[in-house]
Amino acid sequence: MSLSHIFPTYFKIEIDRDLCKKCKRCTNHCSYGALSFNGERIVAEDDKCVACQRCVTMCPGKAIRVVRNESYLPPHGNYTRRIRNIIWAQSGNGGVLLSATGNDRPIRSIFDDLLLDACQVTNPAIDPLRETIETKVFFGRRPNKLDFSMDEGDPSKVSLKTEFYPHFEIDMPIMVGHMSLGSISYNACMAIYQASKELNILAGSGEGGLHPDFYEYGPNIISEVASGRFGVDINYLHNVAGLEIKIGQGAKPGHGGHLPGEKVNTLISQTRMIPKGSDALSPYPHHDIYSIEDLAQLIAALKEATRYKVPVGVKIAAVHNSAPIAVGIVRGGADFLTLDGFRGGTGAAPRIIRDHAGIPIELAIASVDQRLRDEGLRDEITLVAGGSIRYSADLIKAIALGADVGMCCLPVLIAMGCRMCQQCFRGLCSWGIATQNEYLVKRLDIDVARNRIINLFHSWNEELKEVLGAMGIDSVESLRSNRDRLRYIGPNPRIAEILGVKHAGE
Ligand code: SF4
Ligand code: SF4
Repeated sequence: MSLSHIFPTYFKIEIDRDLCKKCKRCTNHCSYGALSFNGERIVAEDDKCVACQRCVTMCPGKAIRVVRNESYLPPHGNYTRRIRNIIWAQSGNGGVLLSATGNDRPIRSIFDDLLLDACQVTNPAIDPLRETIETKVFFGRRPNKLDFSMDEGDPSKVSLKTEFYPHFEIDMPIMVGHMSLGSISYNACMAIYQASKELNILAGSGEGGLHPDFYEYGPNIISEVASGRFGVDINYLHNVAGLEIKIGQGAKPGHGGHLPGEKVNTLISQTRMIPKGSDALSPYPHHDIYSIEDLAQLIAALKEATRYKVPVGVKIAAVHNSAPIAVGIVRGGADFLTLDGFRGGTGAAPRIIRDHAGIPIELAIASVDQRLRDEGLRDEITLVAGGSIRYSADLIKAIALGADVGMCCLPVLIAMGCRMCQQCFRGLCSWGIATQNEYLVKRLDIDVARNRIINLFHSWNEELKEVLGAMGIDSVESLRSNRDRLRYIGPNPRIAEILGVKHAGE
């Protein structure tokens, strides 16, 4: 029996019968089967509605509204509606509840409790319209110091002796996080890669391999090597800007990945190099990594396989001991470290882990940055941080806390049309983003999506320049770890202590 017969549904579909033209467009567009036509009128099944808003957007008569169904649930401060819905769902299916996107618990954002400094009178601001403000970032391992040699015959001739590790330059301190072909559609991947190339930023491939159509965007792609080793072959390794060993993901620390067999169509099977229709399982532990030494061996093996031409990094979820782990990763030879916080996005994760495991990215950035400084390692590595970088303000604060590059996924999905219905794991995304259904995938126009991503990050970069100018800083690299330019206004002084940020007024 459907839950809606016992418990109130989350959403309610309201159809204005006077405005409805009975064109049935809504029934075609609803991929969740919440709308049908019974020969006389449109019939709505509220329990199937996920509030993706596709029908509302597509209805030519503006006849549909999807509203929150608050009708008869008595309020309770402790057993909130959210908790009661979890209990109802579990008592219905008896299994682990899945969800998608990021942690949606109303936990206070630490980014929101941080304020940015700005120049007044004694130290001049910079006008970004008149002066150059540099937002380029060098990605990869950096030497701790530079050695020069002087020509004995001509002391005016000085040449650089230091040999650089493989690294590359990106125009903005931004990376689109790892979303695999499988978790999102071909069209969504293509839009992201094209936008990344156009902006000269980075995008993550996710753990699903790289379809040959995407090889031309390789110079802007960081590819993942996850425990499932999907799609990992020499072409894949040689066609990308960098490689990342995925140990953990912010949305599901201590948990691997699972793409159900029904989503493994011909395209996904070719890309992941697995049989069509088989489940794509990447268990949490890598079968060959049980220590930092093992991890160092894999880093070395990947560097050797790529002839030491591309940076090799490691991604971990932000957990309570991220700082000592980060030290081991740097000492193990990684060229970059990706930290993913507990609000990070996912295509599918057990809800219990998504919502309750890990730590906020703000605290992880600050503690990792500080520990690497204390060990004299900070300048050797590029630190990428993600997990709830929602807009430019979060990006700027993440950099001031210690990140070199901010990584995000959900803003990119939202820019492409995602309504955050949290149903990605079902593969029915009505906007053509998190689906492999060919009929649905066509709904996402690659050109429109690409241009919206370009606009989004262009505006983030312009806002970054505005803030740097207001701070009197002419380069984003000078903002990194510059925590004195932040002040805390939240309720917990201990958080400010861990962040290494003074309270406002100090
Ligand atoms: S799309 Fe709008 S007008 Fe057309 S049948 Fe559905 S509710 Fe009626
Ligand atoms: S990508 Fe699609 S399914 Fe996932 S949250 Fe967004 S709209 Fe929903």
